[in-house]
Amino acid sequence: MIEYQKSVELLSTYLKKKGIYLAKGNWDAYFHEDKTVVYNYKLRNKENMVFSILHEIGHHLAFTNLKSYKNRFPVLHKQRFGSGNINKRTNRYRMEVIVEEHDAWRKGERVANKLGLDIDSDKYYTYASRWVKTYYEGDV
Ligand SMILES: [Zn+2]
Repeated sequence: MIEYQKSVELLSTYLKKKGIYLAKGNWDAYFHEDKTVVYNYKLRNKENMVFSILHEIGHHLAFTNLKSYKNRFPVLHKQRFGSGNINKRTNRYRMEVIVEEHDAWRKGERVANKLGLDIDSDKYYTYASRWVKTYYEGDV
């Protein structure tokens, strides 16, 4: 992996071209309405920090084609873009959340490859699995 500052710069430039702002914060998130990716810049492991940015970009990319998003994640689409409440305790909801998370990691990996960030795929998905796990742990 190339130097992390360089990677963050590349990702910031990539996002800027899409009209998305990369902002420092205390956690990782993508805010669709605000067109902002926030990343935890205090994370000690800078490689993981870059991985997280890639993942949030993956969420952004999923929303750029809402028709495809709706096809793949009908329940989540309804929750995020539709009206009315949806039941978050259904198996379908939970399944879509996990698949959506995994999808965002896959999309992030593609961005890394496209931009020539030489990420370690094994480390990337090990880190990804730690996060995806938080979505199926606990309240089953
Ligand atoms: Zn995510």
